[in-house]
Amino acid sequence: MNRAAFIDRDGNLIHEVGYISSLDRIKFYTRSIKAVKLLSESGYKIIVVTNQSGVARGYIPESFVKNAHKKINAMLAEYGLKIDAFYYCPHHPKKAVIKKYLADCSCRKPKTGMIEAAVKRFNIDLKKSFTIGDKLTDVHLGKNAGTKTALVLTGYGKEEKKLIKTDYDRPDIVAKDFYQAVRMLVKNK
Ligand SMILES: [Mg+2]
Ligand SMILES: [Zn+2]
Repeated sequence: MNRAAFIDRDGNLIHEVGYISSLDRIKFYTRSIKAVKLLSESGYKIIVVTNQSGVARGYIPESFVKNAHKKINAMLAEYGLKIDAFYYCPHHPKKAVIKKYLADCSCRKPKTGMIEAAVKRFNIDLKKSFTIGDKLTDVHLGKNAGTKTALVLTGYGKEEKKLIKTDYDRPDIVAKDFYQAVRMLVKNK
């Protein structure tokens, strides 16, 4: 079975800039390349899991999300790296202006539909896997799926950290960024 890192996209892998609507706004955090490299060298499947309700809200077309992910992998290819798979949730349960995206779906984080799909495709052992992101939603996602969890302090992380109240909110690790989270989690595997 495979180990996997389920990684949040905005505010973790790339800069949080609200709803990205142009490909040239995609920018890795300084140490994201190193983080992806360490995951790759350590034998993890690298799976992006991202809520993209901007699609439901009519801010961006679904094709743009797909193109953004192609661009991310093209940028990583320059370093001989890649994301193994991108999963995104285009839905919103209430605020969708496009009818087909108005859904109380099973993929919107913290629900585990995206992780479940990846587990089937890549034969993943969730107990040996982890989830990293800048929101408590990411922590909840990891807990709901049964992985270890890390909250990073990039993106919304500093604000989200203040909202930790219960054990359900508390990640296994708080890290200053994606790379530090990977370092800590890979070491403790
Ligand atoms: Mg995020
Ligand atoms: Zn969804």
